[in-house]
This record gives sequence, C-alpha cells and structure tokens, in this order.
Amino acid sequence: MNTNLNVLSLAEWNIPSNDRMIIAGPCSAESEEQVMSTAIALKDANVDALRAGIWKPRTRPNSFEGVGTPGLKWLKTAGEEVGLPVAVEVANPRQIEEALAHNIDILWIGARTTPNPFAVQEIAEALKGVDVQVMVKNPINADLQLWIGAMERLNMAGIKKIVAIHRGFSTYKEELYRNQPLWRIPIELKRMVPGIPIVCDPSHICGKRELIHQVAQKALDLLFDGLMIEVHINPDEALSDAKQQLRPDAFIELMDNLKFRSATTNSLDVMAQLKSLRDEIDRFDEQLIEILAKRMENARKISVHKMKNNIAIFQPGRWDEVVKSRIEKGTKNSLSEEFILQLFQYIHEESIRQQEQVLND
Ligand code: PEP
Ligand code: MN
Repeated sequence: MNTNLNVLSLAEWNIPSNDRMIIAGPCSAESEEQVMSTAIALKDANVDALRAGIWKPRTRPNSFEGVGTPGLKWLKTAGEEVGLPVAVEVANPRQIEEALAHNIDILWIGARTTPNPFAVQEIAEALKGVDVQVMVKNPINADLQLWIGAMERLNMAGIKKIVAIHRGFSTYKEELYRNQPLWRIPIELKRMVPGIPIVCDPSHICGKRELIHQVAQKALDLLFDGLMIEVHINPDEALSDAKQQLRPDAFIELMDNLKFRSATTNSLDVMAQLKSLRDEIDRFDEQLIEILAKRMENARKISVHKMKNNIAIFQPGRWDEVVKSRIEKGTKNSLSEEFILQLFQYIHEESIRQQEQVLND
C-alpha cells in the first residue's frame, strides 16, 4: 500500500551539530537534581536534545510509574541551563496539554501506544494546529503498517516534523537482545517512506549497556539518521531500565568511538571501484534468480509426477534432509546457519505454492 506521508527531512530541521540527530538523557526523570546533573554532564557531549520519561508506561503496576507533571519543569529548566531542546513521552491528550504548557520541544509516542489507533488518533487530534516535533517509536509488535499508520495519523493532523524511532520488537523469550532489532523492518520503512528520518534507540533494543556500542554502530552503518540513548548520572541506582543506561562518561566515550560514515564520497575513483563491485553483485543476483527459476520449474515437474502417483506435496523426511545438507554446505562456505535456514524456508514456501498451483490447475 502506498503511503502519502509528507514529512520534513532532518536537513530541514534545526539540527545544530551534524546531520545525525543525537538524543540522550535518562529513561526517567527521578528528581530535579538527577535531571539537572545528567544534563550538565551532557553539556559538551554534542547532543541535539535531552530526553526523560515523565509518565512511564511500565509493564506491571506497582513499580515506578514516573514523577508526573513536576518532572516537566525539571527537564525544561535543565534543557534551558545547557541550551538544549527537551523531549518527553506522551500517551494521551492530557499529557500533551501539560507538556505543551511547559514548552516541551519534542514529544514522542511510546512503543506501547503506537500500536493503538484509538490512542494515536486522540493524540493526533490534540496536536492539530501545533508546530511541534513528534517522534514515533515502532510498535512493540513487528507490524510495519501500524508504525506507518501512526505517522500518517499525525501527518493528517498537520504534523510535519516526524521522526521514526526504531527501538526493537518484543519477543516471547528474551534472548541476546531485550527487543529484537529486526533491521529489515526499519530498512523497509525507509524504502516505503523515502525521506522519513529514522533514529535508532539501541538502549531499548539491547536491554544491557554492554551491547549498545555494537547496535549503535550498526544503525549508523545502515545510515540511520540518529541515535537516542539512555544516559543516567548513576545508572545502577536508576528507578527504571537500570541495566541499559550509560553513565555520562561512558556515553561520551561511546560517541567518540562510533564511526559516523557518510552515504557517499566525492572521490570519483572510490565511486568507480564501488560501481564495478556492484556490477558484479548485479550479475550474481541475475544468476541467483535464473537458478531459482530453474529450481521452481523442476518443482512443478515433481508436482505433476506426485499428482499422477497420488503422493502428497510435502514430505517431512525429505525437507529435513534438505535443511540439514544445505546448512552443512552453507556453513562450510561461511554462511550462517540462521541465514541458510531462513533462505531455504522462503524457497521451500515458494516451491510449495508453485506445486499447489499445478495441482489446482
Ligand atoms: C523509553 O524510551 O523510556 C520507553 C519507555 O521506551 P519504549 O516505548 O520504546 O519502551
Ligand atoms: Mn527506558
């Protein structure tokens, strides 16, 4: 489905430092002193905006649910002290009204709100006629349409400064990451909505601070438009998300170590070499498609043979053998097991679909 999002590119925003937008600050505002000391520690860290959650959407009740309205003043005052715009999460019209009354510069919609069209519509209506920047986190479930839908609702209400935030997707079981990055979803968002700025939130993807560098670097290498990172003056004592927050000095070190590579270069030589390597890739892809087509043709022949002999399309034993042998061959050729498994699952699904078509004809 086409999208008609009409949003400003980051170049049209007022991003002072560079073309990437860096947002940092605590998961939650906890006290006036904590917000101010974190802001001051970030003063010379080249960040573009200061974040803090004021109303916290916690998974279970009876945990810290944010300091509420008083925190807006702490955050705005801290932002003014260090000369930075400030960002908070809002989930309903009342919170929007309070945030705007405190001149909060940037609002964001959290990952538990984005998937609810009623809530997003109410937010959009509350923002009609307001010139404010709104960041939309991906929904906790891996549904790109819901993510785009939320941004469309805001856009239809006249909001043009929209940023998508990729914060990963919930899973039944927490594995390496707290939330699975599923990079193909933000990549597909960029393809479907060209020009939409996407900021990565490695803090909520990782869930632990040790992993943040690697995920942040990956986002930059995928040409994301910025990063939102949780920074707390004393993370171990944080009232929410303690394990994933960085101390300000660790954040500054992270920023120094990250490589901000650009999309292209002015060197004709470098671009020419890149082009010839890409031409080779194009030829390989062509061969891949031709081989896949031959493989499918063969599957259709097999289907006719099975049909004549009244044999079912799918045989678990054969499929098991295919998976095992392809993984063995793949791993010997430096291709990961996960990649080969997923690739052959796709190929197999298409093969079954084509065989069914033969049967139905
Ligand atoms: C947050 O940014 O602190 C937050 C609650 O994030 P999310 O909505 O991504 O869980
Ligand atoms: Mn958090």
